[in-house]
Amino acid sequence: MRAAGRPGWRRYLWPAAYSAIGLVLAWIAVACGGWWRVRAGALECGGGRLAALAARLPRRYAFSAITLGHVILGLDGPTLDAVRRHEQVHVWQYERWGLLFGPAYLASSLLQWLRGRRPYLDNRFEREARGEAGRRIDATRGREPGRQGNRP
Ligand SMILES: [Zn+2]
Repeated sequence: MRAAGRPGWRRYLWPAAYSAIGLVLAWIAVACGGWWRVRAGALECGGGRLAALAARLPRRYAFSAITLGHVILGLDGPTLDAVRRHEQVHVWQYERWGLLFGPAYLASSLLQWLRGRRPYLDNRFEREARGEAGRRIDATRGREPGRQGNRP
């Protein structure tokens, strides 16, 4: 599942462009009353106006959490706790695919749509995340202690 043997810094470098976008959004969320914390090697950010903003989205675009590289944006702490394993699989996918993850994800959705399937639920990356999230997370990535900013 994970990029086996890839040195620590490389797993952060390969998807860095996505993480940079995530960091900008996290910074905006924190500036709007949100908080951040580090869990399992990823920055989690939630709360503040992020939840209120997400609640205003049309149902079709509603989300509880979204992962951009090593940044996971979620509605609130309990939501992030609940979806951590799923979103951590997406972090691994970013580490594996790097810059190609975005185009590959969209291509998978397009392919499912062309086949008359559900672009989100049948997307191969989402199916993989749902499948892996149900299994035990590896001990190294599953540890919980980490830095924390503001209040979760
Ligand atoms: Zn997902």
